[in-house]
Amino acid sequence: MSDLAEIRNFHRVVLKLSGEALRASGSEDNISPEIVERIAREIHEARQDSNVELAIVVGGGNFWRGASASARGMDRATADYVGMLATVMNALALQAALEEEGEECIVHSAIHMQNVAEPFIRRKASRQMSRGAVVIFAAGTGSPFFSTDTTAALRANEMGADVIFKATMVDGVYDSDPRKNPDAVRYEEVTRVYQE
Ligand code: UDP
Repeated sequence: MSDLAEIRNFHRVVLKLSGEALRASGSEDNISPEIVERIAREIHEARQDSNVELAIVVGGGNFWRGASASARGMDRATADYVGMLATVMNALALQAALEEEGEECIVHSAIHMQNVAEPFIRRKASRQMSRGAVVIFAAGTGSPFFSTDTTAALRANEMGADVIFKATMVDGVYDSDPRKNPDAVRYEEVTRVYQE
């Protein structure tokens, strides 16, 4: 049983999937259809015979990260918009795979592109989750200078989720990227910034 099965223990969950989680290691393909299928299957299995309400925030780092492009001279806001558009590609791939598994899946995009996704409407997304659809939040917050981790925290609060699950390439929350910085410090605990 995968770790994802733990989502069953909650009423409403936001799952954060990093873009890198959709790429096969060593492959040139930004999205691995096999990995996306596997993730969709695991999500579907975790939801079997359970009433867990699920939203997914997907990243775009398998295609593009605004900060890296900006470090190489590109205007940061533009680079971030490119990054947000990258998350939409991942969202569509994941949506199709979840539908293959028989899940109803609706993509809400913070940047409007009605041909492929609903414009993000908080109350609508919440109602769709309540009736059992999986909602994918694409295009991050819709604003540059943020990350999709921030988006997950934001949407989790907006949707009244009990918990955020984070599926990523590292085993916890660090003060910097542990794959690049051998001195990166892992936080054993984090506090909730927002209190009602
Ligand atoms: N991004 C942004 N605003 C947001 C969310 C994302 O500008 O609210 C951009 C940013 O450039 C980021 C990129 O989208 O680098 C991809 O998101 P992220 O790096 O969080 O993806 P992940 O690391 O989870 O794959």
